[in-house]
Amino acid sequence: MKRFLCLSIIVCIFLSCAGCQTQYQETFFAMDTVVQVQVWGRDGQEAVRQFKSLMQNMEDVWSAVDETSVLSAYNRAEVELTQSQKTFLDQVQQLSKRTDGAFDPLLGGIVALWGFYDDDYKIPESAAIQNAPRLWDLGAVVKGYAGQLAVDMLESMQVERAVLNIGGNIQTYGNKTDNTPWQIGIQNPAGGDPVGVISVMGTASIVTSGDYQRYFEEDGVRYHHIIDPETGFPADSGLSSVTVVCRDGMTADALSTALFVMGLEEAVEFWRKSDDFEAVFILKSGQIYATQGVCLTDCAFEVIPRED
Ligand code: AMP
Ligand code: MG
Repeated sequence: MKRFLCLSIIVCIFLSCAGCQTQYQETFFAMDTVVQVQVWGRDGQEAVRQFKSLMQNMEDVWSAVDETSVLSAYNRAEVELTQSQKTFLDQVQQLSKRTDGAFDPLLGGIVALWGFYDDDYKIPESAAIQNAPRLWDLGAVVKGYAGQLAVDMLESMQVERAVLNIGGNIQTYGNKTDNTPWQIGIQNPAGGDPVGVISVMGTASIVTSGDYQRYFEEDGVRYHHIIDPETGFPADSGLSSVTVVCRDGMTADALSTALFVMGLEEAVEFWRKSDDFEAVFILKSGQIYATQGVCLTDCAFEVIPRED
């Protein structure tokens, strides 16, 4: 058995912007992953401090892994949530509804059975999957949500621009001084250099869900951490990764997970009915597809048009 936690530092952010210097930069570990923050502006140092505290708070409240978190206590029916916490869970439920349950925030019982909380990996019996309790697990949205909260915080401060990398979830804020786009590398699921570069202007969330980010192998089969709610098994949708570009971090995060579960065809149908995100799909074969609104360079790919 082997654990492979993607620390996402391979996700490259090209920050070459003529005439602008990094003011404050820090790398730390939070929410079970590596977090990198770069902030430009007068209050940059304070922004970094507040961002670190925000991340700590997210972990203390919403971690499904940490048994002392508020969410874990809520799963054990030991605590009541505050009104704002309840409102957040309502928003999460709405995203689940929007994806017809492909993003399912109540898979905690099943995720635990697979050993993704304590790294004690095993293939569960079907009966255990059927009988698994419905417990909250917000691993598919909290990083995006943290990026979104960070944007609210940066907006309220004298910060000019920032880039946050929360375990491979990228949140950009503001424009570069030379008004050129931020350029974000998409990780190659097979390893090595990024497979392509996405360009975005201003504030955006770029979130990737992939079968290489967390998995174990048994008898040559890879069992990854994105579960198909219909089977309780790792989603076998033909995709290796999905990257979503969206203004809203939490939506980007929920959708990257949901589209991965759906597979290319269903995901494209879903995108055609939506107007708030774009996506890049990498198939297990390595083939790349990008919806027509993505600015993707440095790779060969097929464009998915709005109309069929
Ligand atoms: P992400 O990397 O954002 O795709 O989120 C994956 C994490 O979310 C997993 O490690 C689980 O904790 C949880 N998860 C797995 N499958 C699902 C799913 N279908 N819907 C919601 N959360 C999921
Ligand atoms: Mg996600």
